[in-house]
Amino acid sequence: MTELSPDEALEMEPLLRPGLARALHFPDFGQTTNPGALVRAIAEDAAWDGARLVSTRIQKLVPVPAGRGIGLLSDHGEEVFSTVVVAAGIWSNRLLEPPGAAVQRESLRGYHATLELSPMPGQLIYLIAEKIMATPMGDRLRVVGVVEVAGTRKPPEFSNIDRLTGAARRIFRNFGEARSVWIGHRPATPDPVPVICRAPRSSRPGAGPRPWAVEACAAPRAPSTSARTCWQGGRSV
Ligand SMILES: Cc1cc2nc3c(=O)[nH]c(=O)nc-3n(C[C@H](O)[C@H](O)[C@H](O)COP(=O)(O)OP(=O)(O)OC[C@H]3O[C@@H](n4cnc5c(N)ncnc54)[C@H](O)[C@@H]3O)c2cc1C
Repeated sequence: MTELSPDEALEMEPLLRPGLARALHFPDFGQTTNPGALVRAIAEDAAWDGARLVSTRIQKLVPVPAGRGIGLLSDHGEEVFSTVVVAAGIWSNRLLEPPGAAVQRESLRGYHATLELSPMPGQLIYLIAEKIMATPMGDRLRVVGVVEVAGTRKPPEFSNIDRLTGAARRIFRNFGEARSVWIGHRPATPDPVPVICRAPRSSRPGAGPRPWAVEACAAPRAPSTSARTCWQGGRSV
């Protein structure tokens, strides 16, 4: 980490307006400028290695007698697998509650807007005074902020976007139109450490294998803390 003077920061990112108090530069900070393309590439790579990719809505996990696997009931019918990993973000508990495997977590809702800006900054810029983060994403600037604890059912309050774009206008020159807006759900555990857990074994004789749950957790401590690998309140697996 290097401390920059306001002039050095403006030289590095000329799109910032003058008036910065101070700046810190983290040269080793990494990011992807195109998360969608990254995920598609990972999926294509898995398919290349023999994975079968199916897009469908899973309605429920179905126990299979005598430990012969776990059934997935989807819009395409039912299919049985030896192992099932549930990674449905904030919606995982809808699948995990019936087998008694729900993970304690809450949605920290947030919003982003993508904006025209030219040229684009060379890196993520975290504007602490304005409490927003600005990231190059594809050919747009993505401005992110707001943590809203309001569950998954309350309709989005897109007026939050005005706060984000207003802050971006105060910070960047050559600011263009807002191109898209989005609300997302950060699945957050109480501590907040991500969880990778195996469901508790059913007490039924001959019950099948236990599904796994993956809770990626977008919390400040998550990147520096390894995931917890034991069931909530249970033993390690
Ligand atoms: C405003 C905002 C900004 C963020 N910025 C960043 C950032 O810059 N960098 C970063 O690393 N993280 C960021 N995050 C956090 C990141 O988005 C989440 O941590 C991450 O998306 C969680 O991944 P996930 O796979 O667990 O859940 P999700 O990304 O929510 O994925 C779950 C998927 O499961 C699907 N699903 C749910 N139920 C079912 C079902 N029954 N059947 C089939 N599919 C189902 C959903 O449709 C969804 O596609 C941000 C979050 C927000 C809200």
